[in-house]
Amino acid sequence: MTEHNDLVTSTQEITKEALHKLGFDDGMYELIKEPLRFLEVRVPVRMDDGTVKTFTGYRAQHNHAVGPTKGGIRFHPDVNKEEVKALSMWMTLKCGITNLPFGGGKGGIICDPRQMSNQELERLSRGYVKAISQFVGPESDIPAPDVYTNPQIMSWMMDEYSKINRSNAFAFITGKPLSLGGSQGRNRATALGAVITIEEATKRKNIDIKGSRVAIQGFGNAGSFIAKILHDMGAKIVAISESFRALHNPNGLDVDRLVELKEQHGRVTQLFDDSIPKEQLFEVDCDILVPAALSNQITEDNAHQIKAKIIAEAANGPTTPEATRILTERGVLIIPDVLASAGGVTVSYFEWVQNNQGYYWPEAEVNMKLREKMVEAFNTIYDLAEDRKMDMRLAAYVLGIKRTAEASRFRGWA
Ligand code: NAD
Repeated sequence: MTEHNDLVTSTQEITKEALHKLGFDDGMYELIKEPLRFLEVRVPVRMDDGTVKTFTGYRAQHNHAVGPTKGGIRFHPDVNKEEVKALSMWMTLKCGITNLPFGGGKGGIICDPRQMSNQELERLSRGYVKAISQFVGPESDIPAPDVYTNPQIMSWMMDEYSKINRSNAFAFITGKPLSLGGSQGRNRATALGAVITIEEATKRKNIDIKGSRVAIQGFGNAGSFIAKILHDMGAKIVAISESFRALHNPNGLDVDRLVELKEQHGRVTQLFDDSIPKEQLFEVDCDILVPAALSNQITEDNAHQIKAKIIAEAANGPTTPEATRILTERGVLIIPDVLASAGGVTVSYFEWVQNNQGYYWPEAEVNMKLREKMVEAFNTIYDLAEDRKMDMRLAAYVLGIKRTAEASRFRGWA
């Protein structure tokens, strides 16, 4: 079984358990376990050398009972059907947890954007939108950026959809640049959302963020912003890691310098002679551990070494079910991915609302509204977990799936 299938299976298992806890039967699980619609498209693209290459793309629309589906588009050689389906289900959970009027969606194209010119990427982006245009839109399915897609790609997609529909369809897609209807605060939203859940968790665990020790796996978009925000709040970032190496300083790393170096060089750990093997990040003494890189990183092999009291899953699927069991038994508080990384889709929702209103909010207002959503989501899930003696992940699934299941039942779908 592949890693992707493992992720799908474990997502389905927890969803089934959550539905049973809510009193729904297997009929509801049959409805929810797969996307209601799954598109596979073939996109021919004229390459710069004059040849035509045909790319395969997918779009999963998990469930639209509570509103349009919403979720990113990934450009990556490893994109595959099972993963796109699972990610669309996770988006339903994230939207349910933060009480957004959306179901989950996800898209992907099998391609290697690092090997393609800007012109080729533009033609691919436009071709993909043309292929799915009848099935997406501001009222039905709203895409966003994901791995290796960015505001420029969102702009081409918005422009293509607008041409097809002969109007400026800003609300068709989120993660756009500010000049094209993007929202203030969108680029830091995932990180800020994760930090807000960490703040709430530290209150429950009687840990003072000021002076707390934090280790972060991954120093990319999510990880570097999380490091910066926590550092500015007075936390000590004692370790960070990237694809090859890690940095460790029990007295705290110079985060501002690391962020500067990242802007200049892309990566930072290779610039230091005293870097350590990346695997050692999980062994360092710390209060808070933030996996912000890949899935399946915390496993039964390394869970015993972890010293943190709180784990905030900024990455999607970083902890295996076995590791979750081991850590929960030890009393470690795991803030599950569907909660800790829900800040991005929350501010995407704000972007869509602003596009529909034609009225744009200052960054302080966006951040305040994000805080309200994340604080409420964290505390509802924490209290549910305590009251019903569940781990935080199951409690997050219970909250995340509740509205979609209820709305599906009212509609007579199951
Ligand atoms: P990114 O590509 O910007 O950064 C990934 C980072 O992980 C890089 O610093 C890379 O060096 C590091 N990395 C890769 N392999 C590693 C390894 N084996 N050990 C240690 N570090 C490693 O990606 P990102 O946008 O920061 O996303 C990170 C995670 O957060 C992903 O799981 C993503 O799905 C999730 N996420 C991101 C967002 C967002 O808005 N950026 C939203 C929701 C979830």
